[in-house]
Amino acid sequence: MARYALLTDIHANREAFEAVLADLERRAVDRIVVLGDIVGYGPDPGWCADRTADLAEAGAIVIKGNHDAAVESADRAMNAIARSAIDWTRARLSQSQSAFLARLPFTATAGDMLFVHASADHPKDWIYVTSERSAWPSFAASTARIIFCGHVHVPALYSCDMASRCQSQRITPGRPVPLIRSRRWLGVIGAVGQPRDGVAEAGYAIHDADANELTFRRVAYDNAATAAKVRAAGLPETLALRLLRGS
Ligand code: ZN
Repeated sequence: MARYALLTDIHANREAFEAVLADLERRAVDRIVVLGDIVGYGPDPGWCADRTADLAEAGAIVIKGNHDAAVESADRAMNAIARSAIDWTRARLSQSQSAFLARLPFTATAGDMLFVHASADHPKDWIYVTSERSAWPSFAASTARIIFCGHVHVPALYSCDMASRCQSQRITPGRPVPLIRSRRWLGVIGAVGQPRDGVAEAGYAIHDADANELTFRRVAYDNAATAAKVRAAGLPETLALRLLRGS
């Protein structure tokens, strides 16, 4: 058992990634899990791929996201902005960085936990978990007691009881939620590098498997610096504005 730091949707945002890594360093974390979308949208894909590869080397679990997959083969379901950012990203990754992303698995497990980027029922279809209704297929497809995903960029927590009733659970950053054992749990972890809930801070979470508690966290970072890099790179302006607004 251990304390797990859950990171997702880094999106080539070096400043947010560094702020989260500095924050978790102070919190006695035993293992880091990255739930995908290391690149895409942001201005530092190479740096973020290298840093994540270093974490993997040191024992982190790293999962593939839809943007990571789109580096290898274009995703026709992506909107025009995401697609243009991926074309920009692809041209800036070294062969070894692209190969690292291509090698990532779609799911992984540890103890009673399942890790996946999007909905666990069809991990390669990149389905968003945004409601009790869309949380249910993940529970149905898996026997894991706890599932962690990302992809949505808005933190959320769902639980499922013995009668398969799904319920959304209120979360407050910094306040631990006991993942009581009579229910199953699905944590949608907030984005490190592109929050969309109106809070312009990096998001991540810590799961203490011994205490059986999940804590969502927010960390301020220099989003103005990242937005300036987005503009200097010639990436779409909305990607800079998103970082400034957090939505
Ligand atoms: Zn994402």
